[in-house]
Amino acid sequence: MAKHTVVLIPGDGIGPEVTGATRRVLEAAGFDVAWIELPAGATAVEQGYDDVLPPETLAAIRTNKVALKGPVTTPVGKGFRSVNVQLRQALDLYAAVRPVRSLPGVATRYQNVDLVIIRENTEGLYSGIENAVVPGVVTSLKVATEKGCLRIARWAFRYATRRHRRKITVFHKANIMKLTDGLFLSCARKIQEEEYPNIEYEETIIDAGCMKLVQDPTRFDVLLMENLYGDLVSDLCAGLVGGLGVVPGANIGDEAAVFEAVHGSAPDIAGKGVANPLACLMSGVMLLNHVHEEALGERIKAAYNAVLAEGAVRTRDLGGTAGTDEFADAVIARL
Ligand code: NAD
Repeated sequence: MAKHTVVLIPGDGIGPEVTGATRRVLEAAGFDVAWIELPAGATAVEQGYDDVLPPETLAAIRTNKVALKGPVTTPVGKGFRSVNVQLRQALDLYAAVRPVRSLPGVATRYQNVDLVIIRENTEGLYSGIENAVVPGVVTSLKVATEKGCLRIARWAFRYATRRHRRKITVFHKANIMKLTDGLFLSCARKIQEEEYPNIEYEETIIDAGCMKLVQDPTRFDVLLMENLYGDLVSDLCAGLVGGLGVVPGANIGDEAAVFEAVHGSAPDIAGKGVANPLACLMSGVMLLNHVHEEALGERIKAAYNAVLAEGAVRTRDLGGTAGTDEFADAVIARL
């Protein structure tokens, strides 16, 4: 029997290509795993399921607690709720973690970027509570609960402590949204003061924070923010280190964790074998750390760093000509 069982959701668009490549690298590195492959997204509907998130897929993640997920496409205008929002809410995956690092051999405007974005994943403006008040007037409700704000703050400070990070910066707009963002801030302050005085703490109004990020991202360490802000700032930060093809992610709750790249299903390049599998592979390394296979994760990280530093095999988004599988093969050769 395999040591680990992981749910594998290939997803849509480039999803099957990048998860397929990731699976090959993880197995080649010696990950002793049984994959349970299940659909989600447009693929699930095409296979005859009534919903983009089939009950079997959700149940398998609940049972096995860990999943590697490719990006999915939510068919627009057909009444389906987003797979990602459903997963986050059903499994209470309240912490989204996105490490953003400069990579060897990937030339960008900045060197030495080493940020981690921690995004509250279940509340804020993405709570999905919208109303038509009267014809011509609609509202979208921003939700912040003390419980939600305290637990994401505690999660962030614990993460920073375990990972030997030095500082947490909260991005906010409490000058305008005094109650919701005000609560987010007061909870973060409380956790820092009462439980984690070891970690430096600062607050920045998000508009100024974005300016400072693009001026000099190296002045930040761990960024903590509510749902919508985290979504936007993640892509901004991806742009600092080479784009969406190189930024991994994890959605973590107390009972389950789903690992996936920040990027989407990239319909413009789907099926062409040219997608960069690195973001998904890096998410796979985060998964290995989560299941306490850190040594395997380090080997894979060293292998892809070597391939990038050598520069001969690169995907098109990083200025090269290699395809998805060619890049994965090069990583496997360096393991
Ligand atoms: P996208 O991330 O799919 O693509 C944006 C751009 O980045 C495209 O030009 C694409 O070719 C490029 N790109 C993305 N990933 C790449 C990779 N690995 N290698 C090389 N290039 C890559 O964003 P989008 O076009 O806004 O969204 C497309 C679909 O994906 C939408 O249906 C959206 O809802 C969905 N989406 C899903 C997720 C998810 O499941 N986690 C996240 C974001 C978007």
